[in-house]
Amino acid sequence: MNILISLSTVFLSLPLGIAAGLWSGQLRHLVPWKPLSFSFHSIGGIPVVGPGLEILAMIFVPLFIHDFWFYWSHRIEHKVAILWEFHKIHHSDDRMNTSTWARDHFLQESWRAFFSVFTLGLIIDLHLAEAGKAALYSTMFLIGLSMFYHSAIRVRLPWLDRMLVTPQVHRIHHLVDAKHYNRNFADVLPIFDIVFGTYYRPQREEFPVTGLGPDFPAPRSLLSAQFGPLAAVGLMLRRKSNVATR
Ligand SMILES: [Zn+2]
Ligand SMILES: [Zn+2]
Repeated sequence: MNILISLSTVFLSLPLGIAAGLWSGQLRHLVPWKPLSFSFHSIGGIPVVGPGLEILAMIFVPLFIHDFWFYWSHRIEHKVAILWEFHKIHHSDDRMNTSTWARDHFLQESWRAFFSVFTLGLIIDLHLAEAGKAALYSTMFLIGLSMFYHSAIRVRLPWLDRMLVTPQVHRIHHLVDAKHYNRNFADVLPIFDIVFGTYYRPQREEFPVTGLGPDFPAPRSLLSAQFGPLAAVGLMLRRKSNVATR
């Protein structure tokens, strides 16, 4: 089911992602400032450590920008009932595993991507080839990390818990128990949770049960996963309720 949801999400969110890129390109001519020009090659020129630092910068500079927006869009999704209806699909997996990383609704993916595309387009001016390379490196790293921290393995990495999101750190975010609701929102760098006060460091043997519990069963078909939230939001708008349950 997770594979089906992720494939349909990629397919359905693609047109909205392209539209965000095009709008950002048009807006760039209208904004009163000149986007900051930046080159990863200038880092690569540092003797000895330069080439390694250049690759690290290509991975982490885009991920830092991505994670700032991801943190806030994710936090808002847990607060606003309409957005929570879409994000709920990700949390409804009661047996979190590697494939859960891609279990997202296509509209949720689109609204998150929108902010990153706008930031990059309007604030930073990158050479197209460098931007492509940085996007490839950072996306590959992000997918690998996300698959790893959604996996069901019981691994403890206390030395890494504050630097990168680890399986134990993200497991806390998926907890079925209300004890740790609204904790550990970051996608890559826990620094955002630490700075904005939502970080919870897992205890030594803390590997809790995940999911939403029996009151919110996981969708049983691809159609109910992608279109169920739309129906729920329609109903919610008619009743005018907009407070998230989590
Ligand atoms: Zn969440
Ligand atoms: Zn997750």
